[in-house]
Amino acid sequence: MMKLKMPDTTNPQPPAKVPYKRIATEEAWAPQEMLDIYQKILNHADADAGFRGLMGFYMSSQSERARHIMRCLTDLDQVRLQHMDESGVDMAVIAVTSPGTQIMDRATAVSFAQSANDQLAEAVRRHPTRFAGMIAIAPHDPVAAAKEIERGVTKLGMNSIIINSHTHGEYLSDSKFWDIFAAAEANDAAIYLHPNALPPSMLKPFQECGLDGAIYGFGIETGMHALRIITAGVFDRFPKLRMVLGHMGEALPFWAYRLDYMHAATVKSQRYMSVKPIKQRPSDYLRQNFWITNSGVAWEHAIKFSQQFLGVDRVMYAMDYPYQYAPDEINILDAMDMTLADKTKFFQTNAETVFKLR
Ligand code: CA
Repeated sequence: MMKLKMPDTTNPQPPAKVPYKRIATEEAWAPQEMLDIYQKILNHADADAGFRGLMGFYMSSQSERARHIMRCLTDLDQVRLQHMDESGVDMAVIAVTSPGTQIMDRATAVSFAQSANDQLAEAVRRHPTRFAGMIAIAPHDPVAAAKEIERGVTKLGMNSIIINSHTHGEYLSDSKFWDIFAAAEANDAAIYLHPNALPPSMLKPFQECGLDGAIYGFGIETGMHALRIITAGVFDRFPKLRMVLGHMGEALPFWAYRLDYMHAATVKSQRYMSVKPIKQRPSDYLRQNFWITNSGVAWEHAIKFSQQFLGVDRVMYAMDYPYQYAPDEINILDAMDMTLADKTKFFQTNAETVFKLR
């Protein structure tokens, strides 16, 4: 029987001293400037329902969880560092929280992305051994996004890009967005494809039963987005493009066999114009172009299965702070039955390689 041990949230034990650095790679931040823009969007009665259900909730709820998360999200100094110390996280790779720029109009998104990157780079300069940053971009404007990727890498010293899944219901599988992939590949910056609130076209059956968020809907939508990118032939066109998925690869490793079988069958039958031949199987791209993190899943069996399928060099640690700030999860992960070499890859060296932290 596989154990499904939940963290002790009432009396977590302090983290042990370990011979590896713990680097958390999907850690969220919300600058006040972004929250001000969000509030203006939420003030409109016709604001996007998924966005209202996500940030509208966290920004207005008086629940303990929401208030805690807002306090942590907006801090890039003492609150965050104290929580990192208490949970044994040596370094955090930080990105603007979902939906980042992607709920904004195009012009606002372009200018906010630049400002967010300047603010995050400044925080990294204040705490260079504790923080690293991901580049925010406005996917709505692929040419501006490509320029911001280059600026982020060459001027700000950031080596990865955050994209919060769809942008107003549009997906990066559409070739109009591919200047972004060209810039990511040219600058060798990995794209972290993180969930967004579900677009209107997907929301209803998830939201009416409360399954639209991180519990399930996020993973379904983001996993589908990654598959759209794969089956559109993006990695045949950009073979050196590197992407990262959280939440155990949004379950795609578990789906791989079925994906490969049915993709081949669908191509052969010419059932859909949109499913064209690609050079390799969907799972081959998962194993060559993707890295995954365990954000939100402190479960040894899922981590080991992913390591077996993708390789131990492709699975790394993330906490998903502050949405899942559960310090005892560190103890669960430290205790995994895994060689020290593999555990060091999981917690430290894979992140150093993917995000170029050294
Ligand atoms: Ca997250």
